[in-house]
Amino acid sequence: MKVYKFGGASVKDASGIKNLTKIIAAESDNLVIVVSAFGKTTNALEKVLKAWLNGEAKYNDLLDEVYLGHLSIVMDLFGQGSEVKEKIDGSFALLRDYLLTSIKGKYDFEYDQVVSYGEIWSTIIVSEYLKTYFHDVDWCDIRENLLTDDRYRDANVLWSESTKRVLSIFDFKKKRIYVTQGFIGGTVAGQTTTLGREGSDYTAAILANMLDAECVVVWKDVSGILNADPKWFPDAQKLDEISYKEAVEMSFSGAKVIHPKTIKPLHNKNIPLYVRSFLSPEEKGTVIKADATLREIVPVFIKKVDQILISILPKDFSFVMGDNLSMIFHSFITHGIKVNLVEASAVSIDVCVDDEREKVEVLINDLKTEFSAVYNEKMEMLTIRHYTPEALILITEGREILIEQRTRSTVRFVVRKV
Ligand code: ASP
Ligand code: MG
Repeated sequence: MKVYKFGGASVKDASGIKNLTKIIAAESDNLVIVVSAFGKTTNALEKVLKAWLNGEAKYNDLLDEVYLGHLSIVMDLFGQGSEVKEKIDGSFALLRDYLLTSIKGKYDFEYDQVVSYGEIWSTIIVSEYLKTYFHDVDWCDIRENLLTDDRYRDANVLWSESTKRVLSIFDFKKKRIYVTQGFIGGTVAGQTTTLGREGSDYTAAILANMLDAECVVVWKDVSGILNADPKWFPDAQKLDEISYKEAVEMSFSGAKVIHPKTIKPLHNKNIPLYVRSFLSPEEKGTVIKADATLREIVPVFIKKVDQILISILPKDFSFVMGDNLSMIFHSFITHGIKVNLVEASAVSIDVCVDDEREKVEVLINDLKTEFSAVYNEKMEMLTIRHYTPEALILITEGREILIEQRTRSTVRFVVRKV
């Protein structure tokens, strides 16, 4: 069997869903199809959530807009008076009812309860449409099968129980094609969780691992993985194949191609991942696999924007690398702040993190009892894998470099945004 993943851009309108159907028609193997929320639905639901939490009545209008977007796709695909419209209406009613009657809990918890609906609606519509073409399609509610802990917005998968459930629910003796949600899961107690923004790739990889898939195909609006963002370097080239390690390093450094958590479950079972274009499905795209080589070694450029550089110094001028180090990183972990780069000297440590201002300020406040801690905002982290002298000049010329780190294969800079 194979796992296919379709992101929001591939299903932003009715023609996207028709295109998806064509792609499925060309595949004769058993399939699990992981679908994200349509287009920009997740962002729109984040706005609904914010307005609702702030007690603003406009949350209703915002939700109406999301509804009308879905309704127009349903009308386009199924026409007037369809059962699908009833299903979607019913699901929107559940959310409206929730927003009307529930007592507002913590942000992360409410986020998952509200924002997860995007994936429910998209998968209902996609599976119902596929059913009009193929007789052996089923919809699967992943919230009951991909179990996680209750770390809302960044939930951790409970592997052994989930594997049992996933193996029994995706039963290819019953159906050949299953459509399910990316990005979301559920706790044992039945609360909805999410795996982090853009997490549908990760869901695809988890299911592939559990089901021992032959491969994962992620269908995107680009021809494959490029050696740079074409908005940054217009003559970026497509890479035919890259290794798991290369892919992990690239996504960790900020390349937007694949969610960073995606590679581990695939690597562990040696399952290749293909990144292919839903706009030109005849093209081969890029494959990420164990024994890949960059055919010609080309520099790979990655930019991570919206960074903050935190500088931490023990107040008593003691060395930073001893006990202080574990105390500092313990703080980062408890505040849920991911570390992108670390640079240490005798009595100070610099840490580059994503600009999640609220979390960072709480962290700094915490550290201030033992350390002096300050931050620089508006930073960018630039990485070149397989760098050349020309590549170095290309990205650093005219930039203020605050940190530079170099190994044989990789160079990394923290620079001020221009
Ligand atoms: N819909 C979710 C998001 O936009 C998950 C995903 O697209 O992977 O973050
Ligand atoms: Mg999305």
